[in-house]
Amino acid sequence: MVYSLATVVDLINTGADEPDGLAEVGDLEEFVRRREVSGVEAVTSRDLGEVRALREEFHAVFTAPDQPAAVGLLNTLLQRTRITPHLAEHDGHPLHVHYFAPGASVAEHLAADCGVALAHVLVENERDRLRTCAAPDCSHVFVDESRNRSRVYCDSRTCGNRMHVAAYRARRRDAS
Ligand SMILES: [Zn+2]
Ligand SMILES: [Zn+2]
Repeated sequence: MVYSLATVVDLINTGADEPDGLAEVGDLEEFVRRREVSGVEAVTSRDLGEVRALREEFHAVFTAPDQPAAVGLLNTLLQRTRITPHLAEHDGHPLHVHYFAPGASVAEHLAADCGVALAHVLVENERDRLRTCAAPDCSHVFVDESRNRSRVYCDSRTCGNRMHVAAYRARRRDAS
């Protein structure tokens, strides 16, 4: 579940920068390898189109203005997704539940597993953990896993640091 949430974050963020991280079939192949999306034989340009469309849908769930909107969007996505729970152990991961149906395309695989992971976030009333980075020039999304729900940057080393340095410089300017 945590892994599937990280996968949906990775998927959405492929669309957050220029150039697009899913511009070509090769990019999708690399994404499938990176996220260890199992049971995928070969990916085609049709898969690429479907996954890019799905990316937009997941992004809309992430940034939905309120819970009912998020629920509506996610239900629409889940309604057309076949889901078959199946226990699996692969790539060194401990036993876990897969939700994609046998023979699912890459997009359907991601819709099922990432969709269920997001459904649990909504059910547990933790939608406020689905965040977009607060740095003005960054549109990366992330899941806030901090205990006090205080994380505002996608990555403390890059955006967090960058913003702290900027704030420090601004303070120095004001002081002098
Ligand atoms: Zn798996
Ligand atoms: Zn950021």
